[in-house]
Amino acid sequence: MPEGRTPLEAEIRRLIAAAGPMPLAEYMRLCLTHPQYGYYINRDPLGAGGDFVTSPEISQMFGELIGLWMASVWRQMGAPENVRVIELGPGRGTLMHDALRAARVMPGFREALVLHLVEISPALQTVQQRRLASLDVPILWHGALADVPSGPSILVANEFIDALPVHQAVKQADGWHERVVDVEADGHLCIGAAREPLPHFEASMPRALRGAPEGAIYEWRADDIALELGRRMRDEGAALIIDYGHAHFGLGDTLQAVVGHSFTDPLRAPGKADLTAHVDFEALAQCAESMGARIHGPVRQRDLFLRLGIEQRAAMLKAKAPREKAADIESALSRLIADGARGMGELFKAIAIAAPRLGALPGFETTP
Ligand code: SAH
Repeated sequence: MPEGRTPLEAEIRRLIAAAGPMPLAEYMRLCLTHPQYGYYINRDPLGAGGDFVTSPEISQMFGELIGLWMASVWRQMGAPENVRVIELGPGRGTLMHDALRAARVMPGFREALVLHLVEISPALQTVQQRRLASLDVPILWHGALADVPSGPSILVANEFIDALPVHQAVKQADGWHERVVDVEADGHLCIGAAREPLPHFEASMPRALRGAPEGAIYEWRADDIALELGRRMRDEGAALIIDYGHAHFGLGDTLQAVVGHSFTDPLRAPGKADLTAHVDFEALAQCAESMGARIHGPVRQRDLFLRLGIEQRAAMLKAKAPREKAADIESALSRLIADGARGMGELFKAIAIAAPRLGALPGFETTP
C-alpha cells in the first residue's frame, strides 16, 4: 500500500481499514476541518495568492451594501438596543469590515451591536482579529452557531454553506446507495457505493426527483444549520445567506476541489484542496421555513445587488478614483453581477430567512 501523499490521506486510509468505506460527507468533513490537518484549520486560503477569491475580496462594494442591508433590517426590527450581528465563516473578515464601516451612516446601530463570528479555523480567527480590531466593536468567536446566545440577531454568511459536508447517493437497480470513499487494491482512494441501499430513500426524496434513472446522483446536507437558522430568526431576526447553488431541487454531482484557482480531483491530496458542493437553496428554505421563519428569495446575486444599488455605489467610487482605479471598479462590478461563466451574478444566489413580522426585506421586495 503506498504511503499517504498527505498525513490526512494516511489517516483516512487507517480509518477505512478499521471501519470500512467512509461516507463522502465524512471524507469532506475530515478534509476541511480535521483538527490537525483540515484544509481550513491552518491556512488562509483566500485571495490572489491563495486558492480561491470570494466576492468581498473582489470589491469593498459587496460588504458595504450588506452593511447597509443590515442597518436597515435593524431599523425594521424596531432598532433593538442589543443586537447580535452574526457572521458564519468570516474568512479574512473583509465583508464585516466593509459592512460595519458603511453601516456608520445609521445612527445607533454600531452602538447596539455585539459581533459574533462563527469560525472553525484558528488561523482565520487570528486574521479576523487583526482585520476587525480597528472597528472598535465587541467581538466574540464561536466554533458553531449553536454556541451563539439567542436574542435579536442579524446574520450573514457568504460562501459558508458550500463548505459544509455533502452526502451523495447513486441510484442503482435495487435503490439508492450512499456514495463512499474506499481504498482500491493498488492503495489509491476511490469513490464507490455502499453495498446496502439506503432504506426507503426514494420516498424521502423531493417528489420532483423520484423515478430518476439508474446512475443518477442526488446530494443533500445535514439539516441542523438550516433548522437552527429558522428557529433563531423566526422570532426576532433576519439572516442573509449568499452562495453558489441551485434554486430548485436537482440531481447531479457538484462536488469540486480547487487548489491555486484550478480544479483538481477531490480525492487527490486530502486536506490540501478546498472541497465544496453547490447549495440546494430549496432544501435550505424548506427546512428553515418548517421552523416558522419566512423565506425571501432565492434571488440571483445579480438581482440582489442591483436592487441594493451596486451600480450607483460603483459610479460614486469611480467619480472619486484615479483613472486606473476606475477600470478596476468597473471590472469588479462586472464580476459580481455578470451572468453566465463570466461572472458570479447568476450562479450565486441569495436567500433571506427572517421573522415573518418584518415584512419585505431590502433587495427582496419584488419576490413573492
Ligand atoms: N465568508 C468568507 C469566507 C468564505 S470561505 C468570504 O466570503 O470571503 C469559508 C469560511 O467558513 C472560512 O472562514 C472557513 O474557515 C469557515 N468554515 C468552514 N467550515 C466551517 C465550519 N464547519 N464551522 C465554522 N466555520 C467554517
